[in-house]
Amino acid sequence: MKKVLAFDVDQTVNVAKTPIPPEIAEVLRGCLRLFEICPISGQKFEQFLIQIVDPLVAVGATSDELKHLHLFVAQGTQYYKYTGDVDKYDADAWRQVYNYPLKEEDVVKITTVLEDAARDLGYWEEDQLAEGDEIVENRLSQITFSALGQTAGTEAKYAWDPDHKKREAIVAKCREKLPDFLYEIGGTTSINVAAPGMNKEFGMKHLFEELGVGKDDVLYFGDMTQPGGNDYPVVQMGVKTITVRSHEDTLYALRGIVGVVE
Ligand SMILES: [Mg+2]
Repeated sequence: MKKVLAFDVDQTVNVAKTPIPPEIAEVLRGCLRLFEICPISGQKFEQFLIQIVDPLVAVGATSDELKHLHLFVAQGTQYYKYTGDVDKYDADAWRQVYNYPLKEEDVVKITTVLEDAARDLGYWEEDQLAEGDEIVENRLSQITFSALGQTAGTEAKYAWDPDHKKREAIVAKCREKLPDFLYEIGGTTSINVAAPGMNKEFGMKHLFEELGVGKDDVLYFGDMTQPGGNDYPVVQMGVKTITVRSHEDTLYALRGIVGVVE
């Protein structure tokens, strides 16, 4: 039997950039009693709290249950676990176990190349940005391009690049100047850029090490498992993977798994 359920986040357990819905929180809470649960995504730590942890706490997840939740932040280049002992949830009880940040010179190179490419192609949507929002964000272990910023509406995001063509064009241009870096198309408007080797394969290898498991112990859920997608490195590692179209598929699969195991 699998010991670990690992998940991509955006469009696998939620609608991109929003908290997981209560029905997903309920079933994930059930899973915390049966498996180690490992979300692994390009998001920042704070987003993991908003999107995953707070909804779990809202459906009653206890400290003992949260100890089976492992947050693999920024594609698993950072890892956090919960150390709270008392019954009441304590948001300060998350401990960073490791962190592999980008070098400052790489941050500058990546930021510049993304902005130049998007401007050249007419995809630098500065005028659509909410005040204080930004298109290119330093997530420490990776740089993320979000065409419409972080706070744009879901509908606008879905409409911006449904066939990935805009992002593929931006990536192609960036590759001409910085060929060795990792470019991944994720979510609805995002491109994640990281140093060579810093993709979900890096995160999964560290997950195996930290949890003391092998690839056969893990079942992975993702919506971007096709070649070039940000879940594809997990497929390539030979980890058993379930491809979903949305969190509804994931909900269906998880209810089945919990039903069989319980
Ligand atoms: Mg996804």
